[in-house]
Amino acid sequence: MKEFIDNFEQLELGTILLKPQLAKYTTYRVGGIADCMVFPKNVDALVKTCRLIKKYQLPYKVLGKGSNTLFSDRPYHGVIIKLDAFDEAVFYENKVRVGAGFPLIRLASLAAKHALTGLEFASGIPGTVGGAIFMNAGAYKSDMGYIVQSVKVLTPDFKVITLTNQELRFHYRTSFLQTHPKYICIEAILKLHKGKKSAIESVMRERRERRLETQPLEYPSAGSVFRNPKEDLPAGKIIEELGLKGFKKGGAQVSKKHANFIINKNHATASDIHDLILFVQKEVEEKYHITLKVEQEFVNWE
Ligand SMILES: Cc1cc2nc3c(=O)[nH]c(=O)nc-3n(C[C@H](O)[C@H](O)[C@H](O)COP(=O)(O)OP(=O)(O)OC[C@H]3O[C@@H](n4cnc5c(N)ncnc54)[C@H](O)[C@@H]3O)c2cc1C
Repeated sequence: MKEFIDNFEQLELGTILLKPQLAKYTTYRVGGIADCMVFPKNVDALVKTCRLIKKYQLPYKVLGKGSNTLFSDRPYHGVIIKLDAFDEAVFYENKVRVGAGFPLIRLASLAAKHALTGLEFASGIPGTVGGAIFMNAGAYKSDMGYIVQSVKVLTPDFKVITLTNQELRFHYRTSFLQTHPKYICIEAILKLHKGKKSAIESVMRERRERRLETQPLEYPSAGSVFRNPKEDLPAGKIIEELGLKGFKKGGAQVSKKHANFIINKNHATASDIHDLILFVQKEVEEKYHITLKVEQEFVNWE
């Protein structure tokens, strides 16, 4: 690790943080300490960073806003790559070319200002563009797959290539990036449509209000824990029917407002949240014979 850090600094590839607390970089506000976190300053620096990681055979993880990630409490002996410097959004025609580190909520607001429709669904999803493409994030019967035209990625053999929408194989909460986690999303071109600014803003306002009413946004969480087993069968409904709303493990609780959210109610550890997720999954399996699939990603658990 020391050689990697020395090289990263000598080559001036960007900012580096030593021993960052991952709890500060995830929306659950939990997670252990990583050996280091790097912020490559551009694509060339990202390529060099990845070459160094390969050279020294280090574990690594790309992290967006950490709004779909549950790190364990253990130290992470590897490199966390953050693409915060990839934060450009250029609007042209009905499209936007946007960096992987750009926050999705801000992008949705910008699109509305440009009177472009298509990103309204994203106005309450607190991730980055890269994380949203990885997850095929979505809501209100729409998702990234509907608007992504193409994505520039760094391949595991350090080539920068462009993948088309079809090649990205978007399906419900998954994409090519999820099945090929060694690819890193650098930027995307999203194709939107001309709309009426006031109408777009009004839809976004309405949905924001609905989220405030129905989701426990006052507590740290990572959104929906489980995928819906069927389109017309929300995971939250099953969990609620089991009477698990309000159920706690340590500082983690199944939200009383929305049963598919687990919240960090009171200084929860990652283990509290993990235990609660597995407990709910087991209860549903035993009582309903349905295996709920966890939507969030567990990192650094064994
Ligand atoms: C309050 C709340 C509400 C939410 N509502 C929704 C919702 O309505 N719909 C929905 O779909 N999700 C929702 N989410 C979940 C989450 O915001 C999304 O899944 C989001 O897309 C995750 O983005 P991120 O940048 O935070 O990803 P992270 O959690 O940082 O990362 C997720 C995965 O993506 C990978 N990744 C991140 N960036 C890149 C990149 N550049 N290249 C390659 N891989 C990358 C990471 O390695 C990781 O495997 C919600 C979360 C919260 C906290």
